Amino acid sequence: MSITSLDNTYVASTYGRFPLELVRGKGSMVYDSNGKEYIDLGTGIAVNAFGLADDEWNDAVTAQLQKLAHTSNLYYTEPCAKLAELLCQRTGMKRVFFGNSGAEANECAIKTARRYSFQKYGEGRSTIVTLKNSFHGRTVTTLAATGQDSFHTEFGPFTEGFVYAEANDAEKVITLAKENNACAVMMELVQGEGGVMKLDEAFVKAVADFCNDNDILLIIDEVQTGNGRTGSLYAFQQFGVVPDIVSTAKGLGGGLPIGATMLGEKVENTLTPGSHGSTFGGNPVCCAGAYSIISRIDDGLLEAVKRKSDYIFSQLSSAEGIKSVSGMGLMIGLETQKDAKEVIAACREKGVLVISAKTKVRLLPALNIPDEQLKKAVEIIKECVK
Ligand SMILES: *Cc1c(COP(=O)(O)O)cnc(C)c1O
Repeated sequence: MSITSLDNTYVASTYGRFPLELVRGKGSMVYDSNGKEYIDLGTGIAVNAFGLADDEWNDAVTAQLQKLAHTSNLYYTEPCAKLAELLCQRTGMKRVFFGNSGAEANECAIKTARRYSFQKYGEGRSTIVTLKNSFHGRTVTTLAATGQDSFHTEFGPFTEGFVYAEANDAEKVITLAKENNACAVMMELVQGEGGVMKLDEAFVKAVADFCNDNDILLIIDEVQTGNGRTGSLYAFQQFGVVPDIVSTAKGLGGGLPIGATMLGEKVENTLTPGSHGSTFGGNPVCCAGAYSIISRIDDGLLEAVKRKSDYIFSQLSSAEGIKSVSGMGLMIGLETQKDAKEVIAACREKGVLVISAKTKVRLLPALNIPDEQLKKAVEIIKECVK
């Protein structure tokens, strides 16, 4: 049986996969089982921050793999401790909890917010305001946090305690928070799965001020926007706000599964021994890979991300067949005249991998994609959207 028929027969049918068997990659180039070459602008949904089989990342990961692959959290290990230190130094956050995915990073954020509020104010102050059109994960609780009705059917009952405000409507967030005696507000600064929608800075600032004045925790979900993707290490650093909790995952591991929940001053000691945990969390191999990724996202790289972003925006904003370009940094959504599915298939035929976000075509190139490859891919996209 072919890979495709084996998968279609034995793997749970939760994914509408593209008709493509990928076998290997190097940097931003990836190859299928027929040996066909593609420029990858999807990066495994913003995961392969430095592309595939990146030499420095490979070295960091394999060196750790050969030393110590797993210990459980019953013991101290160097990669976990050093990664936490690096993340705190680069963000101003105080402590980090490590899990294995974005959903788990958000679960930890939610648990932390509720416990903080419970310990300070007692019962009944547990609601979290999230935004409509958001996406926070696939577990029962993070689905409940996700502000899209389409996610709230068939898997109920869901975790209680989430209410949804329109994005960019600060009054609504404030009203809902007051009415429901909220303990936190949680949002993505660019709604990724929701169609690469960047929030208004004034809205984010107004919500942050309100939260700060009322001891309501501000949780920023940077699972997709984080780790250099938007042109700063974390997107919140460009919005002029100081979150209490930041969750991240995707690009953090550079290709290995890792999630992190960064805890600010207010909540740095909210989680105590036994209150939360993860068997795989803080895995030494994943942490060594993540350390390599974060340590390389420096000012020079971030400048290059912004330059590449400007290039894409300027090339595609005026391109025939493109109605609008949204997003931030190298997290970009294209509203196309043609159906997004049609554009994605045409790009694939011509050797460029792009993905969708709702009705848009989504571009998430590697942070270090070489200019020539990006240029070639943009030319192909232009041909395919016409
Ligand atoms: C992808 C994503 C998640 C879920 O991450 P998983 O690793 O799939 O659990 C949560 N929040 C945002 C903003 C995401 O983009």
